[in-house]
Amino acid sequence: MEKKQELYSGKAKSVFATDDNDYVVLSFRDDTSAFDGEKVEQLSRKGEVNNKFNAFIMQYLSDNGIPTHFEKLLNATESLVKNMKMIPVECVVRNVASGSLVRRLGVEDGMELNPPVFEFFLKNDALHDPMINEYHIETFGWAKAEDVNKMKDLTFKVNKLLKKLFADAGMILVDYKLEFGLFKGGVYLGDEFSPDGCRLWDAETRKKLDKDRFRQGLGGVIEAYEEVAHRIGVPL
Ligand code: 5GP
Repeated sequence: MEKKQELYSGKAKSVFATDDNDYVVLSFRDDTSAFDGEKVEQLSRKGEVNNKFNAFIMQYLSDNGIPTHFEKLLNATESLVKNMKMIPVECVVRNVASGSLVRRLGVEDGMELNPPVFEFFLKNDALHDPMINEYHIETFGWAKAEDVNKMKDLTFKVNKLLKKLFADAGMILVDYKLEFGLFKGGVYLGDEFSPDGCRLWDAETRKKLDKDRFRQGLGGVIEAYEEVAHRIGVPL
């Protein structure tokens, strides 16, 4: 597989064409951003840690029946993935109240959510990723109703699998964001799953082990990601 020209550069990853139109190279950079790209820093080793972390999680999810775009690790910072048409919608599940839910609804940070809360957001930095619902998605043609149902169903299946994976390693999966895409008519999990797009707390101390360390200037960001990786058995 030959890596060709850059197709797209996002806030933390870049996408490159290959000589096969069905596949692209996802390249994880050290760039770390928050607040819709307003805070940006380079964190050494982040590209490598997130690439390997994501590969481990995507493989785990694939092995457990979740269709994902992941094909294989190529090197320390790059993976081969299916060339999907991305759906510009973020699917968020929350097991514990934190972040924007607390700001929006004034509920207590750390409150357990039973049943978990599901939310859709539009992927649009300029609009600050506004919250949307199924009607917006269908009316504005961001995805078909049947694909919206699949995204929702898959996001909850991922919750069951990952809540247990992290709980068994002494962590609480507080919340996370997933993105999906279409490949040959099917809905597949895309983008990445790493501590950049979820909240993970130590089950005993509630220490934050995710991107909130960067957002809140707590330091030890990559060290925390590496600790999570180590605990669940990601080979770094
Ligand atoms: P919140 O709505 O509380 O800001 O985010 C909920 C969860 O989704 C958090 O785990 C957060 O990291 C993730 N999330 C939401 N939007 C984004 C985004 O645009 N980029 C990333 N990396 N994660 C996001």
